[in-house]
Amino acid sequence: MRVGVLAVQGAFIEHEQILTKLGVETFEIRQKSDLEAPAGSNRPSNRPFDGLILPGGESTVQGKLLRDLDMFEPLLRLIQDGLPVFGTCAGLILLAERLSNDGNVYFGTLPVTVRRNAYGRQLGSFFAERAFRGITDEATVPMTFIRAPLIEKVGDGVEILAEVKGEIVAARYKNQLGISFHPELNEDTRIHQYFVDMCLGE
Ligand code: GLN
Repeated sequence: MRVGVLAVQGAFIEHEQILTKLGVETFEIRQKSDLEAPAGSNRPSNRPFDGLILPGGESTVQGKLLRDLDMFEPLLRLIQDGLPVFGTCAGLILLAERLSNDGNVYFGTLPVTVRRNAYGRQLGSFFAERAFRGITDEATVPMTFIRAPLIEKVGDGVEILAEVKGEIVAARYKNQLGISFHPELNEDTRIHQYFVDMCLGE
């Protein structure tokens, strides 16, 4: 199992640390050649890795760098082909089909409407503990929000996984997991384990 972490901007190292704790091999995606499958790979569709993480950071910067580095199209194709992908915060923004307060659309593969910086300045950053469907019904999963987006609407077939203050903060659609907070900033490894299970086809 090998998971690629987009490492052009933002909080990618923390994701690598959690995956390492889980015994998963990671590598940093920095340039287009990192998207080529290693020789002798026996992954489906000759994929370069088994899963992809799009970390938090600044979605406008990440979107621009993906274009400048010529990685946008190949990544889009991998996601469309069913590669498991996990977007946190800015990564969720990159996946969203629509942004309600921003004219940009990036990959647009996750059928949700997302509002950027949804909690305003006062509540820019906060912490909560809540249930997460598929992990636990108890309000024990730590959720750190940093100038977070939220999911305003979900399309058909999207499974809502977590809510905070009546708002959707985690959702899954087929091979795509989108989360508005930063699970990589806490010690808890359960959300990453959930994604690793997706990569294993569970
Ligand atoms: N506010 C950022 C954006 O709009 C996301 C914040 C984050 O990733 N922590 O891209």
